[in-house]
Amino acid sequence: MIAVMQPSATAEDVEHVVEVLRLHNLKGQVSNGEQRTVIGVIGTGFPEDLLETLEVLPGVERVARITRPYKLASRDFKPADTIVEAGWGQRIGGREFVVMAGPCSVESREQLLRTADSVAASGATLLRGGAFKPRTSPYAFQGMGVGGLELLEEARRRSGLPIITEVMDPGQVGRVAETADVLQIGTRNMQNFPLLKEVGRTGKATMLKRGLSATIEEWLMAAEYIMHAGNPNVILCERGIRTFETATRNTLDLSAIPLIKRMSHLPIIADPSHGTGHRYLVKSMALAAAAAGADGLIIEVHPEPDAALSDGPQSLTLEGFEDLMHTLEQVLLAVGRPLARPRSALQATP
Ligand code: PEP
Ligand code: MN
Repeated sequence: MIAVMQPSATAEDVEHVVEVLRLHNLKGQVSNGEQRTVIGVIGTGFPEDLLETLEVLPGVERVARITRPYKLASRDFKPADTIVEAGWGQRIGGREFVVMAGPCSVESREQLLRTADSVAASGATLLRGGAFKPRTSPYAFQGMGVGGLELLEEARRRSGLPIITEVMDPGQVGRVAETADVLQIGTRNMQNFPLLKEVGRTGKATMLKRGLSATIEEWLMAAEYIMHAGNPNVILCERGIRTFETATRNTLDLSAIPLIKRMSHLPIIADPSHGTGHRYLVKSMALAAAAAGADGLIIEVHPEPDAALSDGPQSLTLEGFEDLMHTLEQVLLAVGRPLARPRSALQATP
């Protein structure tokens, strides 16, 4: 249920509604929009006449029942776009378009630093790289672990780019959050509820990838878990879903981008690397995602993709990424969104 306040409602009117909800053991989530304040009702066991009770309070314009299962993630609850702070003042979800780039896995100091320097020079806003890798096969490279996190810290100091890296295990959240400016929850863990709750308790910016076969509603419910645990700083990532098509690794669901914008206030990033699985498709789909209204991209880049320990076939070369960034600027110009400049660049140590 939401209570939409009149444009003339005072701060006391809003506080009064929240107080009445408190008397019923419910929480009022206040969202201040440009025109109106909306108060979302959170809790279980609503009294039967709650709608009528709220409707007559001073300053209330109307009260509506929300039938969707997700609430905190819903645009009805919070009409204004959420902007997530992602380390060193970087913001995700505003007008500025962010580009996260880097290798699938952190493999070595040389590989990571070379990639970080190059993507930073090409205009990336964040550096990606997995230290803990979710691999389909237990025989495949599992990531460098804590050693990889330390290399990411060094790369951040050098390049000035904030770090996004994956966390897979609730027990590792504390350590990964020390390094990460943005925590990544991978597709395979979208419904790992203990992990979602633990990440929720950190309050740290978190990018939640869409599950391999998750509906939009299941994805938003996973975001709801993180938000319900106390963390409003959620970024969604469309990374392709499983369909009957085998010519691509996944089917990048571009329609999810405007759909999420309609259903939710959370920022949405597109991952054309995992979304296609083929290097030669990444640029087209990246540009299409930007045109479709995404708030940013996450792109796999490797200095020698053919020697990569994971996801080489979908990784751009350093030159390929530079080329993508040039064309992307034209598309962003057309849709009126400036490319975010790394706010941290001046703070980086050479
Ligand atoms: C990754 O980003 O390298 C990754 C494993 O992604 P996903 O969870 O989308 O497969
Ligand atoms: Mn990958």
